[in-house]
Amino acid sequence: MSSTATALVQTGPDSHEFQEIPLPSLVPGAALLRVEANGICASDIDAYEGHGGGYDPADLTQYPRINGHEIVGVIEDLGEATAAHPGLKVGDRVAVNPWLACGSCEACRRNQAQFCTGMPWRTSCYGFIPTYIGPGLWGGYSTHVYIDPHTVLYHFPQEVSAPDAALWNPLANGIQWAVMDAGVTLGSRVAVLGSGQRGLACIAAAKAAGAGLIIATGLGRDAHKLALAERLGADVVVNVEEEDVVDVAAAATAGAGFDIVIDTSPVAQQPILDGIAMLRKGGTLASAGIKGKPLTAFPLDAVTIKGIRLIGVMGTTHQAQQMAADLIIANTLPLSDLRTHIFGFDQLPLALETLQGRVEGENAINIVVEPRFTANAA
Ligand SMILES: [Zn+2]
Ligand SMILES: [Zn+2]
Repeated sequence: MSSTATALVQTGPDSHEFQEIPLPSLVPGAALLRVEANGICASDIDAYEGHGGGYDPADLTQYPRINGHEIVGVIEDLGEATAAHPGLKVGDRVAVNPWLACGSCEACRRNQAQFCTGMPWRTSCYGFIPTYIGPGLWGGYSTHVYIDPHTVLYHFPQEVSAPDAALWNPLANGIQWAVMDAGVTLGSRVAVLGSGQRGLACIAAAKAAGAGLIIATGLGRDAHKLALAERLGADVVVNVEEEDVVDVAAAATAGAGFDIVIDTSPVAQQPILDGIAMLRKGGTLASAGIKGKPLTAFPLDAVTIKGIRLIGVMGTTHQAQQMAADLIIANTLPLSDLRTHIFGFDQLPLALETLQGRVEGENAINIVVEPRFTANAA
């Protein structure tokens, strides 16, 4: 075994280099992971470009740093970690919960570890912890990642491939937002606005939870995403550039309205207004899309008069994460169809361009980055 990890290190807003970083010695409870796959999302784009997106810029601008926070790999060394990670052994494939949580702060005691305030670092999330915090291997764009004793791991059997296991992260969002936060249950009428990987994950979660009617929306360029939405369980798909989703929603429910609307679309303000119009009285509107600026008009009176429950949804609980792992292992939905591309970590800029739909002819949904060098990199 090599004594160093090869890592793609971001040294500044627009500067990246490969570095050899010594493999750590393991304190009790720690482990070493050989990375196999990373899912990527908009946070990777924000981090790569050195700005905060909708988040606090300070969270994304600590350098040097190894990005990559949706990590799957194989346990290479467990040290004395058997008590911290019961049931796991060397060679097991696991997904890494990126959020390190203390287990004892007020948020952790509420079972909302995603809001933990008890860890000592600025951002206690894999992919966002600078390398000067030992042992430095905190990101998935690396051959190896350090598993801190606070890290929660989710075990996948060997028959689930690493790229499939990497769907765990967006799927956990879908389960948390649609099922646990918004309350989708048997027979629910659910509209999911926006058809990115997290919108599609909400559809999969709603289907798995027994929703009775699911509407999905997208733009004209999202035809491939809407086709997958149907395979994942959407009953009606709407190209909002061609149809009025409020009219379609009214027709689909014979005027009764939706129980739950989940808005996953970034930037666009119209989906929030549409969602309020589409809901039945007493329905729930879950806001998951970062808009980047205040809404210019918000029909608060409609929210009040219809008795709408408006919630913001962010992050995931351990329970949703375990459910996501279980749903992938159960293999009852065509989740692997979410994944459209796999790149080596030397192709990260191309992977991020592809994720943003900027590469001609490439229709991306979920993209995996593996820590390997690609011959003939494009
Ligand atoms: Zn992510
Ligand atoms: Zn905590």
